[in-house]
Amino acid sequence: MQRTSLTKAITLAGAATGLLLIGTQAQAQAQETFEWKMATAWPKNFPGVGQGPERLAELVDKMSDGRLTLEVFGAGQLVPGFEVFDAVAEGTAEMGHSASYYWKGKAPAAQFFAAVPFGMNAQEMNAWLHYGGGMELWNELYEPFGVDVMAAGASGVQMGGWYNEEITSVDDLDGLKMRMPGLGGEVMNRMGVAIVNMPGGEIFTSLQSGAIDATEWIGPYNDLAFGLYQAADYYYYPGWHEPTVMFEAIVNDEAMASLPDDLQAILRTAIRDVNQDVLDEYTARNNDALETLVNEHDVELRRLPDDVLAEAQRISDDVVAELAESSEMAGKIYDSYSAFQEKVEDYHAISEQAYYDARNPQGDTASAE
Ligand code: CA
Repeated sequence: MQRTSLTKAITLAGAATGLLLIGTQAQAQAQETFEWKMATAWPKNFPGVGQGPERLAELVDKMSDGRLTLEVFGAGQLVPGFEVFDAVAEGTAEMGHSASYYWKGKAPAAQFFAAVPFGMNAQEMNAWLHYGGGMELWNELYEPFGVDVMAAGASGVQMGGWYNEEITSVDDLDGLKMRMPGLGGEVMNRMGVAIVNMPGGEIFTSLQSGAIDATEWIGPYNDLAFGLYQAADYYYYPGWHEPTVMFEAIVNDEAMASLPDDLQAILRTAIRDVNQDVLDEYTARNNDALETLVNEHDVELRRLPDDVLAEAQRISDDVVAELAESSEMAGKIYDSYSAFQEKVEDYHAISEQAYYDARNPQGDTASAE
């Protein structure tokens, strides 16, 4: 009896010591804190896309009980917006929030993960990225730079752009000077438009002074905030060139590896949350902003003419195919992207699209009336 009790007591004491050790280790880990810098490609607190990083920082702080904090820097505060990727690759910032087509100079194939003219919309992109192999390819593309990437928000279908005169056919585009970045800009260029590149901050002044005749920016929510209605009368839809822009959260590989597993999981979960949240904010705010533009600022809302859309689609196929041929990796991404788009388009023809048609057979838009 005595021996058994003694053995039990020793065993219990041993277990208690073990628990104490585990407890101490957990406590030590819990006390280790990480203070990261997050460089972004947007003005600080910019509506929509600029709110994403702010919410991410709040979420991570709460979920980790302050063990991981992210200090958000607007474009130009830590590094210029177009240098976010380098800053993360070099470790100047542990992470960044941006859009992959800004890095086409480093990796042209990065454009597939931001916006493809006549490509997939936000819902379809998210499906491809998270359940169709897209994220694996995106990470494979960034791996040589020591950068880990996750999708971190989407704009939804953008607007076709602001024009200072009415566009009734492809001929009206000839000779216009327009700001439109990325693959869409290349398509417009082949339709006779002189494409002018400039940072977001210069768009309004350039349009107002007549240095450019037209511009695209994002959608009603951001375009209203930028005051673009004061510089051009005609607002065209749809944004064929950007059926969404996917935004990205990029993390320095070594910084990510330095985090304990639970903080990595918290960071990834919070980014996934923000990925949806940014899209939700755009979906909610674009409607009201469009009403304000049309009803309070007398903006002329117009659909792009059929011949412009048809010609843009024909040329887009060429431009995207040329990108696919630019490297082995670009070809691999294109194959995956286009195969997924073909399948999801088939299904969406009898689901989303058939439903939109059934819900609104005339294609009425209250704002346009
Ligand atoms: Ca845009």
